[in-house]
Formats: sequence, C-alpha cells, structure tokens
Amino acid sequence: MNMTSRFIQYAVYPAMKRWRGNRVMDRISELQHHETMNRSELRELQKSQLQSLLKHALTHVPAYKEFQYLLNELDNPFYVLREIPLLTKQSFRPRRDDFLSDTADTSSIFLNRSGGSTGEPVTFYMNRHAVEYSEAARWRGLSWWGIRPWDPCLMVWGSPIELKQSAMMSWRLKERWLKNRVLIPAFALQPERMLEYRSLIESFQPVYLYGWPSSMEILARGIQATGQPLRLHRIKGIVSTAEVLTDAQRKLLQEVFGAPVINEYGAREGGIMGYECPQGNMHASVDNTLMEVVDPQTGEMLPEGKTGFLIVTDLHNYVMPRLRYRLGDMVQLSSEFCSCGRTLPLIRSVDGREDDTFLRGDGLLVNGQYFTNIARLLPSIQQFQIEQVSVEQMILRLKDNGQLNQQDISAFCQQIKDKMGDIQISVERLAEIHPAASGKMRVAIRSFPLPTALKSSS
Ligand SMILES: [Zn+2]
Repeated sequence: MNMTSRFIQYAVYPAMKRWRGNRVMDRISELQHHETMNRSELRELQKSQLQSLLKHALTHVPAYKEFQYLLNELDNPFYVLREIPLLTKQSFRPRRDDFLSDTADTSSIFLNRSGGSTGEPVTFYMNRHAVEYSEAARWRGLSWWGIRPWDPCLMVWGSPIELKQSAMMSWRLKERWLKNRVLIPAFALQPERMLEYRSLIESFQPVYLYGWPSSMEILARGIQATGQPLRLHRIKGIVSTAEVLTDAQRKLLQEVFGAPVINEYGAREGGIMGYECPQGNMHASVDNTLMEVVDPQTGEMLPEGKTGFLIVTDLHNYVMPRLRYRLGDMVQLSSEFCSCGRTLPLIRSVDGREDDTFLRGDGLLVNGQYFTNIARLLPSIQQFQIEQVSVEQMILRLKDNGQLNQQDISAFCQQIKDKMGDIQISVERLAEIHPAASGKMRVAIRSFPLPTALKSSS
C-alpha cells in the first residue's frame, strides 16, 4: 500500500469521523452485513426501513400529509406505498419545497442536483446521512473486487468546470491527497495528449479507473494508437458508470487496461442502486433504495423479468423524502440467485433512459442503444448520434472524419427505418459531435415528451 493510501486510511478517515461525524466506514460494514442475509431477512429489513420512512413522511412532509389516513395501515408499508401516486420530475420540480420535512435541520442540509443531460436539472435536498449510505453502497460493491476507499483511482469524466481557477486547484489537491484520485477531464481527451496521459497513468499506477464508458473508450483508443501496451501492475478493475455500457466498450477497456470492467448503476437522484459482482451479475442495493418497475402505460407494477420504468424510493433521505419517484430509466429486475453467494436481488438489465428511447408511429418504444449494435457493423461510421425530433422525423448526425462511405450511411438509414417504420431521416455530417451540457456523450435522444398512454416497450 502506498503512503497516500495509508495516510487516508489511518489519518483522513478517522479524522473525518472524529471531527465531522462522518460514519461512512460504519455504513459500509452495515451494508456488507446485509449482503448475505436470506431473502426473508432482507424483506423484513426493507419493511422496517420503509415503515419508518413512511411514518416520517406522512407526519412531517407537507406534500404527503394528505395521506395521513394511511398511518394506521403501516403494518403493511408496501401496501401504503402503493397507495401513493408516482412522482415525476415534472410534478416534483414546481413543488420541491413541499417535500422538505418540517424537522429538517436547515443548517446541515445541502442541495444536490440531477446531471441534467436532458433538459433542466432537478434540485433536491439531502443530508450527510443519506449521502453516506449511497457512498457506502459504492464501497460495498467495490469491496467485492478487492478495492478499498483509499485505493488510488483514475477518474475519466467531466470536471467541475463551474469552479474558478483557484477553487479548481484546491479541488484537485483535495482529490489527490485526501481521496487519492486523479482526474483526466473528458473534454481534454485530444489525440495529441495521449502520450502525456499514458505516462500520467503509468506513474500514478491506479488500482482502478472510474468514469463514463464513452470517455474511457476514447482514452483507450488513444492509448492503443500510441502502439505500446500500458504497464499497469496493480489495477483491479475499471468502473463504468452513468451511461449504458456496451459489450464492445467492455471488451476494449478490458484489453487496453488489462482488468475486468465493473458496471456501476447509479444516478444523482437515486444514489448507487446496483453493482456488478465478479460473476457478472448486477446486485441491487435494496437496503438503500426500494425499486419498483412499472408498466409504461398503466403505471401498474410489473412482475420480474419485464422491462419498464424504474420507480425508486430512497430509504435514507428523511430530509426530502420522495416516495415512488420515476427516475427516468428503463430496467428489468430479477429475484434469481447469483452463484457468488450474495443474496441481494439482481438488476437483469438497464436499458437506458426513457429519453434515450424512441417512439414509433404505432406507439411502441424502441431502445436507442439498439442502433449502437448496428453501427458497429458499418466500419466507416465511428461516431454518431440519432435525435428523434417528432414521431415522423429523425436527425442522424455523423462524425465526418473524411472516411465516411455513402453505402454505410444508406445501410444505416435503412436499418433505422426497418426498426422505426415510416420515418424521415435527415443526415448531418459534422466535424465534431458535441456532448450534452452535462458532458455526457449521448447516441440517442428523443427531444419531445412521450404521450401519457403508451403500449408496452419493445
Ligand atoms: Zn453475484
């Protein structure tokens, strides 16, 4: 273990606990204890967590006081929860402060915000308690791979560009010496800097990489193009987060960095909800977040094995509880058991965001990631983005690197039409395809809202 890791383990964490009341290490042990409970114990745990949260929300949160008549039904909190209507971003945003608990200590709460990759970000309050549980869920997942909170981490994603120069410097110092993290900003991944990044990575010798798969893919390709393999001798994993990870990205990252890819499923608004284990299954953090999957049309709960909209209830946010919040992702849950021995249920698939889902004229939904697999078979198409602007119209943006071939473009358009039905596609050849305001690179965007009634997804 290097000096910085020791310093963080033996000085920073104990100091944070003593002086700032940070209990993340205790939370990690608590969550680790849950991962091998049997399913009925897990259900009991979730039941009592939900009971207390509902009791609190119905008593102290203005937005939920109209449901106080359900307080005497709390013996069955799952029933009570389902009596409460789904909460969407659109219904939450204008009434945000009605969700603030009247017991919240306003001197210790802080504002968090969604990434805002589509439209306006959502802001909401949290406190240290809720954040610590979410962080602990990440460290529990990483512990399955032998990765600890003080291990050196190379991060590849957007940097806090809103910070001023001096604040940025102190942010970087804190990251380096108090968290053992070094950042390569996603926007600075130019080909001419790849040699510089190679030597940075080799001298830092990270135990793990953490970042957006699209950015890590650019870094991996750039490093590959330098012609020499990376010399990493203690790397344990590459953590992919915040975007849907494709099989091709997984393969490339494993090849270039020489370690397994670990898929993390988290969202600013939902915390860390799932972590991949070494058996390749993603375990749900059901001790932090209650997850339901509902039918896009009826809003009714779907049985496991069906893909639908994910609805989350953060079991630890008592400052601003949001019950049955529609997060905006399409997922499929499973209660199968994993051979790794951890009993936490599984998230069978994360099929992207609702906003990455296209709407066909006949009302069916098509997952935008589907087109990534098609593009991979068309060699001249290296980077693209499809935006559906209306039910009848799409824009296909292609990065023009001088090698685009008309046959590939026509084949791509034809395959889009085969899947989407009668739709008009305008092709734009661009020198660059720019990421969203949040910094995320999106391949599929639907820029109009879904109608309220929808047929089941495909
Ligand atoms: Zn497992």
